[in-house]
Amino acid sequence: MCGIVGYVGYREATDLLLEGLFRLEYRGYDSAGVAVLNGGEISVRKKAGRVHELAKLVDANPVHGCLGIGHTRWATHGETTDINSHPHVGGNGEVVLVHNGVIENYTSLRTFLQEHGFVFRTATDSEVIAHLISYHFTEQTEQGGDPKNSATAIKAVEATLKRLKGTYGLGIIFQEFPKMLIGARAGSPLVVGIGQGEYFLASDASPLVGYTEEVVYLSDHEMAILSPDSFELLHRDSGALSPSIQTIDQVAADVDLGDFEHYMLKEIFEQPQTIENAMRGRFDEDEATAKFGGLNLDPQQLRRIDRVVLTACGTSWHAGLVGEYLLEEFARIPTEVEYASELRYRNPPLTDNTMVFAITQSGETADTLAAMRECKRKGHPTLAICNVVGSTIAREADGGIYLHAGPEIGVASTKAFTSQVTVLTLLALYLGRMRHLSYPAGQRLIHQLKSMPEIIRKSLDCFETVKNVAQKYSEFSNFLYLGRLHNFPVALEGALKLKEISYIHAEGYPAAEMKHGPIALVDEVTPSVFVIPRGGIHPKVISNMEEVKARRGPVIAIACEGDTKVDNLADDIIRVPDVEEYLQPLVTAIPLQLLAYQIAVVRGCNVDRPRNLAKSVTVE
Ligand code: GLU
Repeated sequence: MCGIVGYVGYREATDLLLEGLFRLEYRGYDSAGVAVLNGGEISVRKKAGRVHELAKLVDANPVHGCLGIGHTRWATHGETTDINSHPHVGGNGEVVLVHNGVIENYTSLRTFLQEHGFVFRTATDSEVIAHLISYHFTEQTEQGGDPKNSATAIKAVEATLKRLKGTYGLGIIFQEFPKMLIGARAGSPLVVGIGQGEYFLASDASPLVGYTEEVVYLSDHEMAILSPDSFELLHRDSGALSPSIQTIDQVAADVDLGDFEHYMLKEIFEQPQTIENAMRGRFDEDEATAKFGGLNLDPQQLRRIDRVVLTACGTSWHAGLVGEYLLEEFARIPTEVEYASELRYRNPPLTDNTMVFAITQSGETADTLAAMRECKRKGHPTLAICNVVGSTIAREADGGIYLHAGPEIGVASTKAFTSQVTVLTLLALYLGRMRHLSYPAGQRLIHQLKSMPEIIRKSLDCFETVKNVAQKYSEFSNFLYLGRLHNFPVALEGALKLKEISYIHAEGYPAAEMKHGPIALVDEVTPSVFVIPRGGIHPKVISNMEEVKARRGPVIAIACEGDTKVDNLADDIIRVPDVEEYLQPLVTAIPLQLLAYQIAVVRGCNVDRPRNLAKSVTVE
């Protein structure tokens, strides 16, 4: 997690760094800091808290210069104090850096450096990197390296990186070299932005929007040596490389809040559009199927697939669960959904023809990346369902499907979830049509999918009702979320949203499983949110609702328009449009997102920056 920015060129670095940190703040917001080469010395400003706290500090005590680095932290090692904030200073101030990731062998490196006289100021793992560079810089000069030559500094960084175990994205500057910015990565994302007489470095492309469209995504073990007019790319093993330049298609409006109070709300209301974007150009109406540009597998290979593994974390894992229902239903392919953090260390028996899909919004989730690499190493085709173009997972997968949802900035994922579900529905249609699904059934599904953006637009009309419900229940401390079949993953997702942004304990459960344990929690102050749209087992869920009512549990129902069966049972009803069962997750997710959002607002929580969380989990 955490966001890194860097700049070398002709403009005031601090302004750019702060703007970049504001855009990257969703990645971490425990503390923030900048370091700028200010007339021959590196000045550091850093502070616990949000980027605006840092901006105030910089305002009161400005730094000027055209070379700098910045960081917004999601702490892994060491409390969220001013001193533990990045940037970190190495040796006597000759080198300063920002770090994203975790250094697993920091304890032994720290001991080694202390034995060599280095004094540690912070409790972070990152500080060892700064001192180690300083140590190797001295070592290089002792071996005859010229301390005034930047090649000596580069060698010191290379020697340091070889000794690090764990993950890092780094931005490094040296006091002696006012025109050199170094970026290096292993496991944490880093992108170089190419300007005219200037270069940028960032954890993702958002700080570059408006400054350049040309970017180079670094791969693991690559190092970028940037000066105002040069860019050298070095690989740990293969030496100098020629950078592969890509174009970013984001525009500033994508990262602006517009008229909305929070990014989360903006993104919830974008869903009619994002669902449409996820489907655009992906229907083959003549063949009544879906089509994808980037799967990179021929139809023969796809027909041979006898098992699918969907691997993901958090909200993406819930989308995967919906995908399991759809793939098994339409394509009849046995499908499993694995937590990536488990799969990466497990060794499940997968058949030769198992296809692995990594589902991730950011394309940088460390566990998902590791699980995908492990499956790839075993020879399975690995594909990504991912939002961020050019992200590590998107680049390393054999092929994949982009969500085209635009940047998701709210830490609690909303539009990415519905886009993932949309893409998984298209995938189920595609694989289904290669196997058992009939032409008319394919046509029907296409027809229904095409109407979804409009239906989602109507679903958003429930916001006014949701506001009243949120007001009524915002003081409760425990919630149950219950649903069955396709709506069971939605119940899990609804509970997760509430936990994430309201800090209210919530459990998602299959409605009928409730009686095997969680029903013990039901009392007058534990509301149950029933996701109960129409469908084959509607009467069964009604019975589950009766069971809760019999124990005086308050009931909130997410029910279809015109469904009167819930009227006498539910204390509150939020209505959604009626759609086929397999498309219900797209619709029923909406009120649950809104409910979590509004309860958080009523409780005065920081919706877009929930405590302890960060957007893209790039540490294990
Ligand atoms: N491990 C470092 C720290 O705790 C960096 C964490 C991050 O990636 O934000 O400061």
